[in-house]
Amino acid sequence: MAKVMAVNAGSSSLKFKLFEMPEEKVICSGLADRIGHKDAIFTIKYNGKKDEKVLPILDHSYAVKLLLDALIKKGIIKSLNEIKATGHRIVQGGKYFSKSAEFNKDTEKKIESLIPLAPLHNGAHLVGFRAFKKVLPNTPAVAVFDTAFHQSMSEEDYTFPIPYEYSKKYDIRRYGAHGTSHQYLSLEAKKYLKGIKHPKIISCHLGSGASITAIKDYKCVATSMGLTPLGGIMMGTRTGDIDPSVFNYLVTCTKKSAEEIYQIMNKKSGFLGVSGVSNDSRDIIAAEKKGNKRAHLANLIFFRRVLDYIGQYYVRLGGCDLIIFSAGIGENSDIYREKICEGLKESLGVVINKKVNTTLRGKEAIISDKSSKIKVVLIPTDEEVMIARDAYALLKKKRK
Ligand code: AMP
Repeated sequence: MAKVMAVNAGSSSLKFKLFEMPEEKVICSGLADRIGHKDAIFTIKYNGKKDEKVLPILDHSYAVKLLLDALIKKGIIKSLNEIKATGHRIVQGGKYFSKSAEFNKDTEKKIESLIPLAPLHNGAHLVGFRAFKKVLPNTPAVAVFDTAFHQSMSEEDYTFPIPYEYSKKYDIRRYGAHGTSHQYLSLEAKKYLKGIKHPKIISCHLGSGASITAIKDYKCVATSMGLTPLGGIMMGTRTGDIDPSVFNYLVTCTKKSAEEIYQIMNKKSGFLGVSGVSNDSRDIIAAEKKGNKRAHLANLIFFRRVLDYIGQYYVRLGGCDLIIFSAGIGENSDIYREKICEGLKESLGVVINKKVNTTLRGKEAIISDKSSKIKVVLIPTDEEVMIARDAYALLKKKRK
């Protein structure tokens, strides 16, 4: 038995979950949010209790100190030595990492060199890692990459049709994202695919960031996100795929810089941009109910994009045995699940069990009807447990 800490550091947040491994029991979890502000929020959940404090947290190092102090003060652990390994989520592993890697100088250097490919994420992950390293210098640490699962794509699936020398010189290709989630979901799905020789899965991670992945034999063959998490289906604030000339034309029309338009495509588009209401699908549904036409259009575009990708991947896989819904929208919204399944009825024979679907929130279950040609399941994702598994695997290797 060993305690391992799974860490997900963002630019202004630090999420954590402490596990007892190999049981995968969650000992405590929490979040430092609004890091860099005087009114940051530190939340920790343990033993069925939840403590929340508003206080200045000016950097990630202080967030880590708060967390480790809280573990001792609240009696969750007696000494920091009880934490035997840490695992860190890293969004971009580029061409270097097709699986998790132990943190060392070389790993750190490679993650740092990939900052231009994940400017909002990789830098923040490193800050989080270094803050832990300062306090736990001898504790083994593992980097778990969002892109690793997608490294099994074939060349025609990951190469963009730009001049080939640019692809090579600048490492431009489809890297995808949410790989840790899609991998977790495909492993959890094994129980629904017993007896099928070469299982074909379409995994829909629909949250504020959203991606769809085609999985064959538990390996990724295609995924919707691209060079960065901006590609693929429409999202809360991101465009997803669009004709690249829109970018150039917007620069010309608005006289804004390329960087400003890029930011708008990342942060002001998607549900938010089309509806003008919100990036949150709950607000979009509420506005649509009140007759807001732009909110309705935002939903129509979202459904169209999701259905287009599912159709594409059905062909890519040569069929499909299982469709998985997960993440914020996929786990919590029966409305979105129902609409998507209805859009797949005529072409793919998907039939949803409305009674099961409407009562279901955040719990694993089959939501398709017995008559459905493809099984559809809701599986809550758990990226942290994947991180903890890899941290524990590293620890076991070190102990040998
Ligand atoms: P995630 O990024 O996976 O945490 O997902 C967050 C998003 O899930 C929110 O921005 C909402 O759009 C969506 N969401 C969460 N709960 C619901 C719900 N009950 N109904 C519709 N959408 C939801």
